[in-house]
Amino acid sequence: MSNVYEIAQAQFEKASKHLGLSTTLELILSQPKNELIVNFPVLMDDGRYELFKGYRIQHNNIMGPYKGGIRFHPEVHLDEVKALAAWMTWKCSLMEIPFGGAKGGIKFNPRDYSRQELERITRRFTHALGSNIGPDHDIPAPDMGTNSQTMVWMMDTFMNNVSHDRKNAVRGIVTGKSVTSGGSLGRGKATGQGLVFAVKAWAKERSFDLTQSDFVVQGFGNVGYHAARLLAGEGSKLKAVQDHTGSIRNEAGIDPVELGAYVLETGGISGFAGASACSREEFFSTQADIFVPAALEQQITAETAPTMNFKLIAEGANGPTDLDGERIMLEKGAEFLPDILANGGGVTVSYFEWLQNRRAESWTEEDVDGRLLNKVNNAYGNMRALAKEYQVDNRTAAYMHAIRRIQVVYDERGIFP
Ligand code: NAD
Repeated sequence: MSNVYEIAQAQFEKASKHLGLSTTLELILSQPKNELIVNFPVLMDDGRYELFKGYRIQHNNIMGPYKGGIRFHPEVHLDEVKALAAWMTWKCSLMEIPFGGAKGGIKFNPRDYSRQELERITRRFTHALGSNIGPDHDIPAPDMGTNSQTMVWMMDTFMNNVSHDRKNAVRGIVTGKSVTSGGSLGRGKATGQGLVFAVKAWAKERSFDLTQSDFVVQGFGNVGYHAARLLAGEGSKLKAVQDHTGSIRNEAGIDPVELGAYVLETGGISGFAGASACSREEFFSTQADIFVPAALEQQITAETAPTMNFKLIAEGANGPTDLDGERIMLEKGAEFLPDILANGGGVTVSYFEWLQNRRAESWTEEDVDGRLLNKVNNAYGNMRALAKEYQVDNRTAAYMHAIRRIQVVYDERGIFP
């Protein structure tokens, strides 16, 4: 496996070269502004204390407050969080929302802990981050292993650490909250919804009929489930799914809603009656039009790409494709909707949630979806225009649009002092 930060760096450098970015700016953007690591003790249900390692990496805030998810996963490490934070900077700029980029996480497996332990871990981490986060400074959100409940615990902890008269003013400290605790309608499905809007924009440009298409999804959590449900709603057939419990396949099609209910009950896709179990190799070599990676980084690689046959890879996950994987798939004629576009719906609706919190408003789901559609179509159009002008792949074009917007602001503001 390659180092994920080096992959992120290579993608950035490729776009910078095409843009003719100054060496100074390339140097500044190649490292995060702040790297925070905290070790904190948490009381376990059996009376023991366990020590946890948490990260918050703040990559860049020239376009607005730092913004990015919190990941609970045993593989979380510094270079991964650094890569994820940089991707957030490019994503927010590409989606044209006034945020910078950050990411955080705790290295542990949330499946091994009780609800009470998860609550204490989350609250203790939020306390340890202290004033390094804030609604106008750095705004966390859910990512792998975290959800709206995690965000509500973070919000409540943060609120209880400010003066009484400021409590409600800091509701926007996190996004991805439950609607009842100040979240936005449409946020739960937003990443999957944005991905499907991007796939529809691609299909329109190619005159590709989605009702005659089929697809495969890796990861069936927040992103994978909603992407699958909404893509099936466009008439596309789900043929194979993989998650941490295994892989399943059905040529006749898998019902994503039924599978979602099964996962909610059992914790994974394995054993689902509406499909047969298959191997990891069979999963990757399934013949379909669209592949939606929605789990971990580095899944499309020199090992898997030679066996894959898809027209489009719509990256729900962050960094699912390494440099070899991308080269091999492009040589095969496949196209990519890169992560910073395809999963940009999550942070875009997070921005809408933050706006609603600031204004004490509550928008309808139709309103949220309509605004998201405009943002995705705008980003898709900007990416495709640069791809054609510079004759580059979609990922490089998406990075170019994002970096160029940041470059303009650095040029205007200069570097202090
Ligand atoms: P989640 O925790 O809800 O779901 C993760 C899924 O990945 C689960 O189905 C899990 O079983 C599966 N998985 C874990 N390990 C696996 C493995 N080794 N092989 C196959 N599947 C495995 O997480 P999520 O929020 O859906 O995030 C998924 C991806 O999408 C991540 O890369 C995340 O950074 C990205 N993303 C999430 C959001 C969001 O709003 N949640 C926004 C943008 C990007």
